Amino acid sequence: MVYDDQNIFARIIRNELPAIKIYEDDHVLAFMDIMPQAEGHTLVIPKSPAITLLDLAPEAAAYTIQIVQKVAKAMEQALEVKGIVLMQLSGAAAGQTVPHVHFHLIPSSIHELGKHALHMGDQEKIKVLAEKIKAAL
Ligand code: AMP
Repeated sequence: MVYDDQNIFARIIRNELPAIKIYEDDHVLAFMDIMPQAEGHTLVIPKSPAITLLDLAPEAAAYTIQIVQKVAKAMEQALEVKGIVLMQLSGAAAGQTVPHVHFHLIPSSIHELGKHALHMGDQEKIKVLAEKIKAAL
């Protein structure tokens, strides 16, 4: 499959679409999920154009997971969460809906997670959570 540079996350990376960002550097971006599965649901994406984890260069994967860990620690501290589900869907057959590789950080339990990308979240509430996480980074 060919990478579609018009996918939502590619456009967020290029600042063509808005996002509630919590972390950004030259290689990685972290922002709040617009349809959270739990309060504080965050996405971490490498900026390189890969569709799935399987397409991502090992170096980019290694760096991205470091930021995943950094954001998870900030979430744990800022939101006082007890557990975080790290979810990564590779391929539409797995349920992937946005064709740019991303890691979900969901403060929840695997036993409580329902379907994802279902209900639009309250963006004002999400902004407050984002500020808390940013402050803990
Ligand atoms: P996946 O199904 O694993 O590809 O996950 C895509 C995720 O992106 C879902 O959890 C969506 O809620 C989320 N999402 C879709 N569009 C946006 C957007 N514009 N900003 C933030 N999150 C989004």
